[in-house]
Amino acid sequence: MTPIPPKGPIAEANRLSMLLNLSLGNERFPVKVEQLARDYAGQFGHDDPITHVIGDDLPGFEGALYGTDKEERREWVLIYNSAVQVPGRIRFTMAHELGHYILHRHARKTFECSQDDMLRWESAEKRIEAEADVFASYLLMPIDDFRGRIGDDLVNLDVLDDCARRYGVSLTAAVLKWLEFTLQRAVLVVSTGGHILWARSSQSALKSGVFFRTRGRVVPLPEGSLAACDDIVVQERQGIELAAQTWFPREPKEMALREMKIVSDRYEQTMSLLILPKAEPRYWQQEGDDDGDERELLDDYIGSGHLPKR
Ligand SMILES: [Zn+2]
Repeated sequence: MTPIPPKGPIAEANRLSMLLNLSLGNERFPVKVEQLARDYAGQFGHDDPITHVIGDDLPGFEGALYGTDKEERREWVLIYNSAVQVPGRIRFTMAHELGHYILHRHARKTFECSQDDMLRWESAEKRIEAEADVFASYLLMPIDDFRGRIGDDLVNLDVLDDCARRYGVSLTAAVLKWLEFTLQRAVLVVSTGGHILWARSSQSALKSGVFFRTRGRVVPLPEGSLAACDDIVVQERQGIELAAQTWFPREPKEMALREMKIVSDRYEQTMSLLILPKAEPRYWQQEGDDDGDERELLDDYIGSGHLPKR
């Protein structure tokens, strides 16, 4: 029998989500990825199963997937770095490796995945790493379920933290997922030592020129922002209002945004979530000096298969 080639990462994750909805109903979250990985080949009639899911010391790697040819069949071992102290990250890593198994195992036998070296990857490598991350994100946090949890609530870091707990992922992963589908203008900013490490905008924020370009440049935190007051406020989960121009000088003077903040001791990083009102009709697209911005940012999106300290 000729194997059916895998569809894209979203289609494959949705297919599994539908099965989990049917078989487990309300008990399906957080997704039991280890069991899913072990059962996958049997469920779908593949003759090259994942036989072991193992936690191990993997210096420099988050996870790996290795194929070994036994006499009559190929077997796969999924390994995650057990030194990682955050369970949500281990779940994400396992789902990422399962993504490689489903999407990419016919192309090669070894996958070794880290979070920090994405800028050095060749584009083909970036693509498969990004695909495995997209698969993991959709498998662990199906958008329809996520949207249903948020409802009409005023979104803040408490609400998103509840979602992170439901899905068994890190808060960062949950915020990134929300940014994918929200219609609000919102930006996640991760900073350390007074400058922005990386940032991610929702689609509507991006389209209205509300974003940061951080690749290859040092972007200081704006003076007057909550993020820049490291000594004063360690946590502001509901958010405070301040002038949108504090962060985005091209927003109207009278506009306010809501800034939320969590300082993580573990990574010495600050996570800020900025939510802005709807954009006003703009001059932005007429200015013509930012033609490359959106392309560059989308490129960043694709390249950012692995974001630091997920
Ligand atoms: Zn990978």
